[in-house]
Amino acid sequence: MSSLALELAAETDGLRERSLYRRMRRQDLAPGSRAFVDGRELLLFGSNNYLGLANSPQLRAAAIAAVERWGGGATGSRLTTGNLALFERLEAELAELKGQDAALLFPSGYQAAVATLPALVRSGDLILSDALNHACLIDGCRLSGAEVRVYRHRDFEHAAALLQDRQRFRRCLLVTDGVFSMDGDVADLPALCDLAEAHEAWVMVDDAHGTGVLGDSGGGTAEQQGARQRVDIHFGTLSKALGSVGGFIAGSAELIDYLHNRARGFIFTTAPNPAAAGAALAALEAVRRQPDLREKLSGNGRRLRASLRARGVEVPDGITPIIPVLVGEAERALAVMARLEAKGIWIPAIRPPTVPAGTARLRMSVTAEHSHHDLDLAADAVATALAETA
Ligand SMILES: *Cc1c(COP(=O)(O)O)cnc(C)c1O
Repeated sequence: MSSLALELAAETDGLRERSLYRRMRRQDLAPGSRAFVDGRELLLFGSNNYLGLANSPQLRAAAIAAVERWGGGATGSRLTTGNLALFERLEAELAELKGQDAALLFPSGYQAAVATLPALVRSGDLILSDALNHACLIDGCRLSGAEVRVYRHRDFEHAAALLQDRQRFRRCLLVTDGVFSMDGDVADLPALCDLAEAHEAWVMVDDAHGTGVLGDSGGGTAEQQGARQRVDIHFGTLSKALGSVGGFIAGSAELIDYLHNRARGFIFTTAPNPAAAGAALAALEAVRRQPDLREKLSGNGRRLRASLRARGVEVPDGITPIIPVLVGEAERALAVMARLEAKGIWIPAIRPPTVPAGTARLRMSVTAEHSHHDLDLAADAVATALAETA
């Protein structure tokens, strides 16, 4: 082996020893409530395809139609030759979903975060960030060069204490997930906006998991909490409930105009894929026209929580489709996952560094596609697997 291969293999071996090694599972068919892995059908409780749209006839047809009209690629960055009318239409609809003037698309949510944060703040500025924020926010904060202070999860007293010397800084940004991706709880956005107002700070919300899921019209966590007009920077993805791929920022016309000129991850990358944009437009139509999908989803979340509790499995209260089952150590999380898989159920084990050490878990997520029978089957299997590995 080359010295590179030897050195890297030693490091990945170390991960394996600590039960932190990651590998991809190859899927042989498009997943829905079932996944097809290694020649087997598994009941899936881990996808972000909350409304079941990714693989729906509407999205497939819309993606195909977009490719037929616009081709396989956009041919350039948005500021050169890549600004297809399709993208402007999608941005207008995303702005409407979020109740904002304008929106800006990025090829992925991760990229939207690492492009937007450094465009807004830099050295001499201050960011306050929730301890459980998504990795893309953490990376965007680091890249910005601003001073980053992390407050305890949803603890605004701690955040206020960290803002005492705010006047020493130029800009100040409060950054939070709307729905926390590994815990399924939600930020208290009105309280965060109060804090921001008192300290001349701006608020940015990553609503990857709330978009299309929460709020009367699927607008997300801010809509659900009546805080749409108080959040300065709405960040969402097309990749979860909307069943496609891509990220976006929505906000004032001035914010979006500024990002056109300042967000390097927008300026120096090729425009998104037409197929993804076409699929996302079809998903937005489904979000508008099929509110029953959101009702089915929230009903499934309530039922799975109740079903787990009835079998003695502790889970936190919540209004989102994400239900964490804490198991503690990474090794046990893998053991529980393996037992479930042997019974034909796939629930991803989430380990550090995605979650803090000692809080490895099964991250269950429900979708509108699950039947009541699926939910009860999974609750039974989880309770049994936990008992067998206790
Ligand atoms: C998935 C996710 C992202 C990243 O979105 P992608 O479009 O998958 O890159 C950002 N924030 C949160 C909270 C997420 O769960």
